Amino acid sequence: MIFKTDLNYRKQSLLKLLVTVQEHEAEIIKALYDDFKKPAFEAVFTETEYIVTELKQTIKNINKWAKPKWVLPSLLNFPSTDYLYQEPFGKVLIIAPWNYPYQLVFSPLIAAVAAGNQVVVKPSELTPNTSKVIAKIIHKTFEENHVKCVEGGTEIAQTLLAQRWDYIFFTGSVNVGKIVAKAAAENLTPVTLELGGKNPCIIDETANLKLAAKRIVWGKFLNAGQTCIAPDYLLVHQNIKPRLIDLLKEEIIVAYGENAQISPDYPRIINEKNWKRQLALLENQTILLGGQSTAEDFYLSPTLLDEPSMDSLVMKEEIFGPVLPILCYETEADLERIISCYEKPLSLYIFTENNGFAKKIITKYAFGGGCVNDTLIHFANKRLPFGGVGHSGIGAYHGKRSFDLFSHQKAVVKKANWLDIPTRYAPYQGKLNSIKKLLNWFS
Ligand code: NAD
Repeated sequence: MIFKTDLNYRKQSLLKLLVTVQEHEAEIIKALYDDFKKPAFEAVFTETEYIVTELKQTIKNINKWAKPKWVLPSLLNFPSTDYLYQEPFGKVLIIAPWNYPYQLVFSPLIAAVAAGNQVVVKPSELTPNTSKVIAKIIHKTFEENHVKCVEGGTEIAQTLLAQRWDYIFFTGSVNVGKIVAKAAAENLTPVTLELGGKNPCIIDETANLKLAAKRIVWGKFLNAGQTCIAPDYLLVHQNIKPRLIDLLKEEIIVAYGENAQISPDYPRIINEKNWKRQLALLENQTILLGGQSTAEDFYLSPTLLDEPSMDSLVMKEEIFGPVLPILCYETEADLERIISCYEKPLSLYIFTENNGFAKKIITKYAFGGGCVNDTLIHFANKRLPFGGVGHSGIGAYHGKRSFDLFSHQKAVVKKANWLDIPTRYAPYQGKLNSIKKLLNWFS
């Protein structure tokens, strides 16, 4: 296979992809708007330009990343030269969700191609307009036996999963993640699972409340709350809860106006099923703001809920929409009681001026990644790994890590012949003490 080893071929493919995605930028923005009214600003900020910068970074670094690396040898092997080779896995399957339907196809795809793999991608069927443009871009850029886009829904995904792959990269829900993991286990295929969960956002008494409210509203209602790392629920210290609620209401109005339905900056829920699911979360709840909805365009306004009970639906499942429950706490034991009800989340946020408190929370709870005094922005640093832990995912990517993820790290020791220390060879009699000493000195 030419693309497996030929670095120049990979690089040329990525350069061609860069030209094609730039040519299709307007088409992608329109498709994202047609699929769920994603505003052009968000489409550029979180999808198209994100991919352009990822491509440029990968093209710039591919030679360095792909080069075999010299590794400090073990003295036990003296004399030797040790290397790490980056080997492509072979055939890679990428299955993507609908919420950032363009970015979550191309970001892993770029890395898989850079690492020298053959790739099949399946975009989400819930964003058919974007899926069509993705298929067109891939068709125009790559030879079919190099990268292929297969459009379709669950049945197509299951047909693909039934085939044998050398690596599977899945982004989506926890439930489907389990199906993917089972299918992969059949052939012992390695997987990356980028999943979701219930992300807590803690606001303590010392927080800068005005800024906290602004940044929470941004992170929660971007993409109408349909973001895997959006704050799922707030845990607010009881002394500042009324003030924070006022500020959240103010910031929602500043961002989207009194009526978010006429705001050009507020997307829609992806489809009827998800829209109905969001409405069901509001049943029997105290709505502090929002709750307005229309069926024709799957609209649901930014909604704040007060103190839902822990056994209500909204506190049982990942919300993944513009509904934000606000719970108050008094002590750190209250926080633990609530956070420990859930599987390890994909992200966690803490708003505080108290560094000791922030550190305590970061070390006490397991979560994929997060921020102190902001939301979502850890995603933007390509030098930080992005991924979950436990039920929120397996594996992490971004930047060079994405290249490494799609490469088998092959370890090779080249032994020199000019010296051959005899201790390790049989017969062993009289050598036990020497091998012990050697192991202790040199390991
Ligand atoms: P989903 O799991 O329903 O679908 C994801 C993909 O799996 C789609 O391509 C779909 O066609 C396919 N699929 C659906 N059912 C399947 C089945 N039974 N067998 C095989 N394939 C199947 O997820 P979604 O609704 O598209 O996305 C929302 C979920 O994704 C949320 O839980 C969110 O937290 C998560 N998510 C995670 C990340 C991340 O980076 N960790 C990013 C975005 C979304």
